[in-house]
Amino acid sequence: MTRVFNFSPGPATLPEPVLRKAAEEMMDWHGSGMSVMEMSHRGKEFIGIHAETESLLRELMGIPDNYKVLFMQGGAIGENAIVPMNLIGRTGKADYISTGDWSKKSIKEAKTYGKINVAATGEASNFTAIPKQAEWKLDPGAAYVHICSNETIGGVEYHWTPDTGSVPLVADMSSNILSRGIDVSKYGLIYAGAQKNVGPSGLTIVIVRDDLIGQALPITPSAFDYKQQADNDSMYNTPPTYAIYIAGLVLQHVKSLGGLAAMEAHNKVKAAVLYDYLDQSAFYRNPVAPEDRSLMNVPFKLKDDALDDAFLKGAQAKGMIQLKGHRSVGGMRASIYNAMPIEGVKALVAYMQEFEKQAG
Ligand SMILES: *Cc1c(COP(=O)(O)O)cnc(C)c1O
Repeated sequence: MTRVFNFSPGPATLPEPVLRKAAEEMMDWHGSGMSVMEMSHRGKEFIGIHAETESLLRELMGIPDNYKVLFMQGGAIGENAIVPMNLIGRTGKADYISTGDWSKKSIKEAKTYGKINVAATGEASNFTAIPKQAEWKLDPGAAYVHICSNETIGGVEYHWTPDTGSVPLVADMSSNILSRGIDVSKYGLIYAGAQKNVGPSGLTIVIVRDDLIGQALPITPSAFDYKQQADNDSMYNTPPTYAIYIAGLVLQHVKSLGGLAAMEAHNKVKAAVLYDYLDQSAFYRNPVAPEDRSLMNVPFKLKDDALDDAFLKGAQAKGMIQLKGHRSVGGMRASIYNAMPIEGVKALVAYMQEFEKQAG
């Protein structure tokens, strides 16, 4: 068996001990005589798995008791509609901060459900920096303020928490949830597709403050109404059971490594290996403002785009895959989520050095 270093932006690499455990438990989970995939979501075995996954998430993220954790389907793109359907009704309008491709998608989708004000945009810098809060034009009458905490394509990340006063802060954390500790109480709602840092695709995590539940627009499909899901412990419809189980194994693994503080320390060291190399090189370049650089997704360009294909081919031959940048920005992108070992980043930098020597 050979495993590659997989730099995919998502679905992404998972910790090997998790995959091994899942393989071991595939045919017979804990003496139940069945795979988790085959269990009733209402049986005692799965209810236990579900409860443990939620409790681990609460423990690791320090989620206060006045927040519900919902395990839903529909992905973060689904939440782009589900969030306004559930939250915008209070005032009919919301503020959005535009920092790149994913927040632009959120803005476009939300416009169907109310009046959307783009309170700040990174457009002037071509989305290579997060607009400073002093420049934000927030509306105190907004039902919420929406941010994307890590732009997976552009590689910009908030390293601070916006202060939106009494207006609830909503964050799409799909690509940096679990990468470091955060103060959940500063947010009204957090959502994330699982397939970057938590587990397989198909599971969407929603962490929502109690007082924001129960105000859905009448058009909201019942399966996407946070109240229905909260009242039914995320079992209003069949939840993505196997994805929840794998997420639970990932959370156990993260806990065994020391929790989110340990993840953050590890992620900082890992990202520095790559950024330090990029910064001293005249051949490679990362365009993002240093204070806003993502610890999870590192886009970079070669001196000459004509070398991109040769770079990717050479990387593939060395077992490093999925380094091609998103088509909207071109170049390369290394996604280095929690489960990417530092050996993977070191191998990438060694290859980049070698390629630069050869082609530079
Ligand atoms: C991957 C990603 C999405 C898309 O999630 P889906 O699960 O495909 O709906 C949305 N937002 C961010 C920040 C992402 O990284």
